[in-house]
Amino acid sequence: MSDTSTPSGGRIMLVGLGPGSHAHLTARARAAIAEADTVIGYVTYIRLVADLLDGKEVIKKSMTEELDRAIEAFERARAGRKVALISSGDAGVYGMAGPTFEVLFQAGWTPDSGIDVEIIPGASALNTCAALVGAPLTHDFCAISLSDLLTPWPTIARRLDAVAYADFVVALYNPKSGRRTGQIVEARRLFLRHRRPDTPVAIVKSAYRPKQRIEFTTLEKMTECDIGMLSTVLIGNSNTFIRHGLMVTPRGYSNKYDVDSGTTHAGEQAGRSLSTGLDGWRAGLHASGLGAAELAALHRLPEDYIAALLAEPLASEAADEPAGADA
Ligand code: SAH
Repeated sequence: MSDTSTPSGGRIMLVGLGPGSHAHLTARARAAIAEADTVIGYVTYIRLVADLLDGKEVIKKSMTEELDRAIEAFERARAGRKVALISSGDAGVYGMAGPTFEVLFQAGWTPDSGIDVEIIPGASALNTCAALVGAPLTHDFCAISLSDLLTPWPTIARRLDAVAYADFVVALYNPKSGRRTGQIVEARRLFLRHRRPDTPVAIVKSAYRPKQRIEFTTLEKMTECDIGMLSTVLIGNSNTFIRHGLMVTPRGYSNKYDVDSGTTHAGEQAGRSLSTGLDGWRAGLHASGLGAAELAALHRLPEDYIAALLAEPLASEAADEPAGADA
């Protein structure tokens, strides 16, 4: 990182291992582990890269010792060692990156204080699990962890309710463990308030590891499936479908094009916003003659938002924007 300000030469590398197979370990992750003289991680992750650890100091920690892992990494780096702190998937997604910075800041560390920190990205479970089941994340999605070890349940429940209502595709991390069995049941209950019981669901266990298992089910039946600590649950949106063993969320092409012929629907133009995009939709609100309350109910949007739009004049005379497609 910086010039002469690294007297210790110590380094912390937050390494995302990806799903766990060497084929999906990035070249930089592999090099970082090779460069390290100390490797710290949860036992299972250490095992995933055991063959890369010859001659290194290896510190195995249990799942609940995350802060200890970060403190240990900091102490070693302060003594001039190169430390790889390994996480599955991406170290910044429910991984060690956050706790490490918290520990570092607590200890007065700054980016130019002589200990270099590098975060090496890896494919997160939502990427790898999605790749195994098809293309479920091709439209807006989000991740929610069902772990209530550090997050109050009402916070988790509120997020589940909001994303179920907003029709996101959702990846549920930490869906269930030996002790935490009720959270997935509650997630289903909250989702069923907004989503159809036959909404497609895929459950991927141990993606890209020897015990990999993929199961397709529905929102209604998902709790009957085998779900554990190593599973990620992918819940589709209202357009997601499963065909020939593949879960697919449409990108929206059929809103604009006849998918067989490739021609645009009447009123739509290639490279331009949909007729129901922001400008077209706003014009429609004004032209409808309906009040804010009716329109709010129709579009499932807040009434004060609709009222604000109706109160603004339309920019319909504005110059045409140049053609160009969003990629
Ligand atoms: N940093 C990790 C997530 C750690 S939280 C990442 O970016 O993927 C642990 C949760 O991740 C598990 O409970 C599970 O939901 C998910 N997970 C991690 N590895 C997985 C794998 N190989 N297959 C399926 N889910 C996985």
